[in-house]
Amino acid sequence: MELNFDALVVGAGYAGAVCARELAERGGKRVLVLERRDHIGGNAYDRLDEAGVLIHQYGPHIFHTNDEAVFRYLCRFTRWRDYQHRVVADLPAPDGGRMQMPVPFNLTSLRKAFGPEEGKRLGEKLIAAYGAEKKVTILELRQNQDPELAKVADYVYEHVFVHYTMKQWGQTPDQIDPNTTARVPVFLSEDDRYFQDEYQGMPLKGYTPLFEAMLDHPNITVQLGEDAIPHLGLDGDVLTVDGVPFQGPVVYTGAADELFGRRFGPLPYRTLDFRFETLDQTWFQSRGAVNYTVDQPYTRITEFKHMTGQELEGRTTIVKEFSRAYTGAPEETPYYAIINGENNALYARYRALAERFPNLHLLGRLAEYKYYNMDAIVARALELAGQLI
Ligand code: FAD
Ligand code: UDP
Repeated sequence: MELNFDALVVGAGYAGAVCARELAERGGKRVLVLERRDHIGGNAYDRLDEAGVLIHQYGPHIFHTNDEAVFRYLCRFTRWRDYQHRVVADLPAPDGGRMQMPVPFNLTSLRKAFGPEEGKRLGEKLIAAYGAEKKVTILELRQNQDPELAKVADYVYEHVFVHYTMKQWGQTPDQIDPNTTARVPVFLSEDDRYFQDEYQGMPLKGYTPLFEAMLDHPNITVQLGEDAIPHLGLDGDVLTVDGVPFQGPVVYTGAADELFGRRFGPLPYRTLDFRFETLDQTWFQSRGAVNYTVDQPYTRITEFKHMTGQELEGRTTIVKEFSRAYTGAPEETPYYAIINGENNALYARYRALAERFPNLHLLGRLAEYKYYNMDAIVARALELAGQLI
């Protein structure tokens, strides 16, 4: 491995790529980026599949933020396609057929669930209790003592949350971190978009070109297919790279337990199996994502062309997501940290090991054991890089 660099970045996802760019450009450092996969972009990586459809290999990614600084920063590396994400729940209807309603559950969903008149009346009652255009988490709504509103809460819990959450987490909404279901609150509005953020969209040419642009700097060297862990020495008092003490910043964006040989035991994660299907039809479903909130073994179906805007006649690719416990097997990816008191305490032990090395920085969704969206990790990476420069 090349050793003439000033900073080492492990991982070429958002955390690693933003840090590398900042250290190289603003910090004037020669940065080596090691990426274990054979591509850049981390979980935001996209590519053309065998049928020529632009897919997101690790699940659908929709960019959305209220953070203007993050948005402006990314605008340096990409132009955008306007895309407002809209999702419906698909579930069995009382008549034996199927029905669809907007998710997040909103005033339209309420009328679909309870009929136009009753739904309207219940909507007015909810607005009187919480306010128009307000977002109320399902756990909050379930606290409501009013029998009619409790009936609404039970409906939403049963038809939107409990089965989907069991599929995704293997636990009920009451058992998981409340911030997780709070991502998809009941919305007392006619607005049927999944996000209300000021800036939302898709990189015009895809995520991978965005990463190519970000990493395209004379001070940055990227080595793909290279696992950093065998190169890092963390047993002594100083961090070593290939046995040589290294004083420059090391930004590590992989899993914290893996970095230390899982010596305190594995950090629990959920992994996903993605089943892609290319179909000989122009469209499969009405929108980018349909959530199966009551039945089916998968959580949702994504049809990429709705999101990317790619025009292609007679062909489309969809993906079904199946969630299960991560076992640590090499072919699995840890996608979701299972955030709770016990797991956070285990994470803190790994973090304390890392803190013994002042030049080692854990950054990102894996390394920090957090549920970061893309914009949040860009913001964190800019913050850390600012401290390191
Ligand atoms: P990652 O993207 O995971 O990058 C870490 C990189 O480090 C990986 O490429 C990995 O291979 C590499 N690495 C790990 N260990 C090593 C090692 N030892 N040596 C070398 N390289 C290593 N966010 C949104 O804002 N909107 C969305 O719609 C959205 N949808 C998502 C859907 C799914 C299914 C998932 C799982 C996440 C989604 N996210 C979304 C979150 C988004 O993926 C993350 O915010 C983002 O990828 C975090 O970037 P990161 O750099 O921290 O991690
Ligand atoms: N959720 C649900 N039903 C839905 C959508 C979401 O129960 O139709 C719950 C589920 O627990 C999920 C969480 O809300 O894990 C967060 O959903 P989000 O869409 O934000 O998850 P992401 O796929 O972005 O990680």
